[in-house]
Amino acid sequence: MDMLKNTRFEQALESLEQLSASLEQNQEWPDKQLQELGDAGVLGWVIPPEWGGFGVSDAELMRGYQRLASACLVTTFVLTQRNGACQRIAGATNSELKAELLPPLARGEIFATVGISHLTTSRQHIRKPAVQASHSNGRIVLDGEVPWVTGAKYADYIVTGGTCEDSKQVLVAVPTKVTGLSVAEPAKMLALNASQTGAVHLDNVELDHRMLIAGPIENVMKQGQGGGAGSLTTSALAIGAASRCIDRIKEESGRRPDLVEFHDSLADDLQLLVDDLGISSGAESETTQQSATAEDIRQRANSLVLRASQAYLAASKGAGFVDGHPAGRAIREAMFFLVWSCPQPVLDAALRELACSISN
Ligand SMILES: Cc1cc2nc3c(=O)[nH]c(=O)nc-3n(C[C@H](O)[C@H](O)[C@H](O)COP(=O)(O)OP(=O)(O)OC[C@H]3O[C@@H](n4cnc5c(N)ncnc54)[C@H](O)[C@@H]3O)c2cc1C
Repeated sequence: MDMLKNTRFEQALESLEQLSASLEQNQEWPDKQLQELGDAGVLGWVIPPEWGGFGVSDAELMRGYQRLASACLVTTFVLTQRNGACQRIAGATNSELKAELLPPLARGEIFATVGISHLTTSRQHIRKPAVQASHSNGRIVLDGEVPWVTGAKYADYIVTGGTCEDSKQVLVAVPTKVTGLSVAEPAKMLALNASQTGAVHLDNVELDHRMLIAGPIENVMKQGQGGGAGSLTTSALAIGAASRCIDRIKEESGRRPDLVEFHDSLADDLQLLVDDLGISSGAESETTQQSATAEDIRQRANSLVLRASQAYLAASKGAGFVDGHPAGRAIREAMFFLVWSCPQPVLDAALRELACSISN
């Protein structure tokens, strides 16, 4: 069954788009949107059928993310964090944990999220691990601060981890009701405030071994599935956000032919990226079969979303600079891709482009 070709999915897209401006203005958690995604079957996308999901192909998942991000970036971002948690749990060898969490996750009865950046991109320059872990007698203890967790206030479980004294790492599913866990007030950010992202404190949180997803092992985030930093998922979202801006420039160019050449140039870049990601609408492949590396695609997707959003503002002129115009939100949201899940080479490429270095 093609999960993207059904009326419920189309209805969910329409509703997400309609609600996207007020969602960001009121900084509300996208509860209604997540329910609609559940009704459209989207919450089962990354959960294997044996646990009550649909287990869609990688290509379908990326196409879905792109379309959803074009309708509402914040909701789609929240979905990716929830899906990241589901994928990590589904990739575990721990069948007991999968049986306990995956079916209610697929039904949308519980919500899970990830707090994993301190194991990949955040606080890597600080010698002391953000979260210290120890394990003995069937218990795992976590102590420290998880710097970034989207939707922590609304989560039943947070997939997170810590680093042991011997530098091996563990990845676990932490129930948010556990003693010693506290959720900080969400940070006030440049955009995506409805994602309610903030820090989570773990004060010697003790967990049973049955909550273990992976480890202890070096570089636990490089094991299994779920998409590491700078994964194709992050690019699919950037491409979706860019395509919304490019569509808006196209609408504007219907009345102003001078804009056509700029629209066409951005649309060509977009098509190249979609082709390289292997998710063109004609391509029915099960895998993404991208013809460029994930890093290269992310660099170009970042560049495109930044350029497309600014071109949208320039085309909208002063009217676009007034509070409430969608071009303003598009620009603030595009900035997110400069900092979200950016491995060092992607960050370097962005800085090189911004600094206009001529040596590269
Ligand atoms: C809206 C939003 C939502 C997010 N949601 C999640 C989520 O749900 N789950 C998740 O796991 N992650 C999440 N992230 C985290 C994200 O993926 C990145 O890991 C994060 O943005 C990295 O930024 P940082 O400030 O933590 O990086 P850091 O590298 O810790 O940088 C922080 C500061 O440290 C200093 N610094 C950095 N490098 C050095 C150095 N080499 N030497 C000296 N000083 C240095 C700089 O002053 C810098 O500003 C989210 C991020 C955002 C913006």
